[in-house]
Order: sequence, then structure tokens, then C-alpha cells
Amino acid sequence: MDTSPISVLQHVFGYDDFRGPQKDVIDTLVSGQDCLVLMPTGGGKSLCYQIPALVREGTGIVISPLIALMQDQVNALRELGVRAGFLNSTLGFDQVRATEQALLAGEIDLLYIAPERLLQDRTLELLAQARLALFAIDEAHCVSQWGHDFRSDYLKLDILEQRFPAVPRIALTATADQRTRVDIQQRLGLTQSPAFISGFDRPNILYKIHPKQQPRKQLLAFLREEHPGQAGIVYCLSRKKVEQTAEWLVQQGFNALPYHAGLPADVRQNHQQRFLREDGVIMVATIAFGMGIDKPDVRFVVHLDLPKSIEAYYQETGRAGRDGEPSTAMLLYGFEDVVKLRQMMAQSQGSDEHQRYEQQRLNAMLGLCEITTCRRQALLRYFGEEHTEPCGHCDTCLEPVETWDATEAVRKALSCVYRTGQRFGANHIIDVLRGSDSEKLRRFGHDRLSTYGIGTELSANEWRSVLRQLVANGLLEVDPEGFGGLRLTEACRPVLRGDQTVALRKDLAKSRSAPKPKTG
Ligand code: ADP
Ligand code: ZN
Repeated sequence: MDTSPISVLQHVFGYDDFRGPQKDVIDTLVSGQDCLVLMPTGGGKSLCYQIPALVREGTGIVISPLIALMQDQVNALRELGVRAGFLNSTLGFDQVRATEQALLAGEIDLLYIAPERLLQDRTLELLAQARLALFAIDEAHCVSQWGHDFRSDYLKLDILEQRFPAVPRIALTATADQRTRVDIQQRLGLTQSPAFISGFDRPNILYKIHPKQQPRKQLLAFLREEHPGQAGIVYCLSRKKVEQTAEWLVQQGFNALPYHAGLPADVRQNHQQRFLREDGVIMVATIAFGMGIDKPDVRFVVHLDLPKSIEAYYQETGRAGRDGEPSTAMLLYGFEDVVKLRQMMAQSQGSDEHQRYEQQRLNAMLGLCEITTCRRQALLRYFGEEHTEPCGHCDTCLEPVETWDATEAVRKALSCVYRTGQRFGANHIIDVLRGSDSEKLRRFGHDRLSTYGIGTELSANEWRSVLRQLVANGLLEVDPEGFGGLRLTEACRPVLRGDQTVALRKDLAKSRSAPKPKTG
């Protein structure tokens, strides 16, 4: 049999061509090199290791934290004639024995293993006796403490490099955050290896972000008018809200199911299966739901509460439209959400640095909600992709928001950032603009600046919104050191020269009071 990658793609998986970087990734692994793959959800990460596992001699070991999905993944592969198996805590002793023997006999092409199982001595010794084609570390962002899926077992995966130096490793993730990426490369020993980073645009997703007014009414109208009878996910921040919302949707005649980590395992399993197998199920869930779910025809993702970062928003909305068909991501946000999220962050265990980082990520998310320009451009800019044209396919492109001419205010803010040396966070800049009487300002001599007290016409919260919008617009950037310092970007020049005006959202100018953040 011809076992070139393209022939495996066509004859085993039944596809005509590789997508995006798949071919290059596969060639890299087949030649025995390590690599990192960063691809949006639905981009086709699985084939990147499945095909090399079939092309290379020996078994491909797939490390995945998603125990609940292993059985499904293995079944799907077996249907294609691929010899697949898995080892995790759901198996009985006999099943484990049978799988281990099959591995040693060279009768398995792909073996899925949970990280805690892999790290057991018994498993490592077993693998040392087997012939291995590669290690695939799926959901590799779990190695990073910056992400929200941190798993301590992932930190110990550097053992693979030490114990199996000759076996190529591939790490895969859909998390684009620069800091997480560097973490993965360092912790998994991939700094010298090629990284394949795909474009993050999901052109078939229509982005809509609206202020939360009457959320149930807004949700109902959305489901009835835009996605009747279709499958989708509705995310809520709390378990209680998940249950209340699911119950209410059922009363309204929808086929809705709740999902959160507090439900018994069998109920969760059952609801997940129904979502995957039945048509038109609406899953009302906390963020516990979704990682690794491969359902191509999810037509919408609704957020009834603000996600805590743009990464989370991108990853969650990315579960819509994996089949490439038109889909909608709708987010309703309110300042109550910000209060709740800030409280949750303040109570979390992390270091000050970590909390500051989380705070900045939340601010960036709010900035995305508040901008008046194309959402997609802003979203992709956050991930380092510059798109010169507005997309024409998001709410701000389709129904321009009411704006006010904020050019004067923006110039004041930008010059204040400049005059204070481009290293202070929003709170300090606002204190200078509003002429606050504080020891810190005097210590830096900022009470003597020409920009001191020039911005009393806006409240601190209004200035906060202005600064967030400027970050989202790309006129300001947050320094990557992690202290929240604001800096000017190249894009500021025409505004400072007076050649360009800046419009900001009207509905936020005289906004409800948002709480003062701890930092940033
Ligand atoms: P990811 O893990 O990146 O979220 P998957 O590997 O689950 O994505 O792939 C998403 C979908 O795209 C799957 O249904 C998969 O079968 C399909 N797919 C992947 N690669 C190709 C390809 N080269 N041609 C056609 N379909 C593909
Ligand atoms: Zn747009």
C-alpha cells in the first residue's frame, strides 16, 4: 500500500486536499522533527498527528486531558479502519491488559492516553518497550498557568523529551495568546522547533456584541428569528444561571439541556451525547462545556455573560460553524458581569502578577465590546493579525453604532500618556487627566504637567472606557511586561497631528457606573 501522507489523507480519511499548514506539519513530523501547531478550533489539528502516526512506523501516542471524549475519538477512527485504542481511568483491568498487549505487538496505530496515566511508571515502562511513531500533546495550553485550563500533570510532560529523545513530539493548541505560546515552547522543550501558526479569522462567523438590556427577551428574539430549530450553545457564568436558563428555554418550547461541572457525571455524559447526536439541541452551559467537542453544525454560540478574556471569547465562539457554514456568535454584556468577574479574580489564588494579567485580559475583552469599529479587525489585531479592511460581517459593520466625536478627549488622553513617559496604567493617566490630588502624582511631578487636570469634563469611568476603546482600536497598546503601562502606537500620529478624528460609542459615554478596578 502507498503510505504517503496524501494517499493516507485520501484513502483513509476520504479528503481530497490538505488544509492550511497540515501538509508542512505532517512532513515535519514524518521526518522526525518536533513542532508546535497553533490552529483555530475546527482548523484540522487532528490530522496533523493522525496521518504521521499512520505513515511512520510504530504507534502514535496522543496525550489528551479529555477523557470523556476518548471513546468517541477512538470509535470514529476505528470506523475508518484505523487501529486505535485508549488508556484512561474508565477502563477495567482486563481492557487495560488487552490494550497494553496490542501496543507491544505493534497492533495499534494511535493510542490515546490521559496525562496522569501516561506519567505512571507502569505506562512509561510500557512505552519504553513499544515502538513509537510520535507523541502528540493535544490541548497543549494546559501546560501554561496563564490559561484557564492549567493542569499540573502537563508540566511533567517534559519527561517525554528526556526518556524518549528519538520520538518526535507535536504540541497542539487553539490558544493564540503570545504568553501561553511561549510557555508551551519553553515547558515542552520546543523553543528550537518550528511553530506553525495559522490565521485566526473565522469568516463564516458573524460577530454580534450588544449591551445587556433584557437578556431573556434578547435571547428569545435571537433564537426565534435568527436560528430557529438549530443547534447551539448558550454560555452563562454560573451554574445556577445555567439551570434557570435551561429550564426557562424548555418552558418556551426549546430543546434545551443544562451542562456544568456540578451535575452528576452520567447526566453530563448523557446531555453531551444528545447534543452531539440529536438535531437542534441547545446546550446551556458554563465554560466546563466545549473543550474538544467536535460537532460541525453548531450554528450559534451565545454568551449571556461577559467572557473573562478575548482568548476565552475566541475559543468559545470558535465552536460555532466548524463546517464552514454561516453561524452567529452573540454576546450580551453588562457592567454587572465586570463586577462579578473582578470579584472572582480577586478571590483566585494567583500571585499579584497573575491577577494583574487577568485584569488586563478582562479590560481587553471590555474594549472589544465597546469599540465602534469592526469587531473582527479588533479581534484579529489582538492575536497579532492586521486586516486592513473592515469585515462587513459583524454588528458594528452592519449597523454602525451611534458615536460622538471624541477627538479632543482622545488627544488629551494620548498626550497625557506621552507626557507621563508611556509607562503608567489607566488609573494613573486618569488621575492626571482629572487633576487628582495624590501623593503618587506629586512624587512623579505629574501635577506639574501641562496635561494635569485637562480632562475634568469626563468622569473616571468615562475615561476608563475611552482608554479601553483606544487599546481595542490600536491607538494605544498595553506594554507586554505585564504591569499595565500604556504606550502610543504608530497609528496615533495622524490623530495627534490633527489629521484624523476619532469617534467613540455614545451609549457608553455617559455610562452606568463601572467599578474601579484594583489595578491596570
Ligand atoms: P481541531 O482539532 O483543529 O478543532 P479537527 O481536527 O477536529 O479540528 O477538524 C475539524 C473538522 O475539519 C473535522 O470535521 C475534520 O474532519 C475536518 N477536516 C480536517 N482536515 C480536513 C481536510 N484536509 N479536508 C477536509 N476536512 C478536513
Ligand atoms: Zn466587521
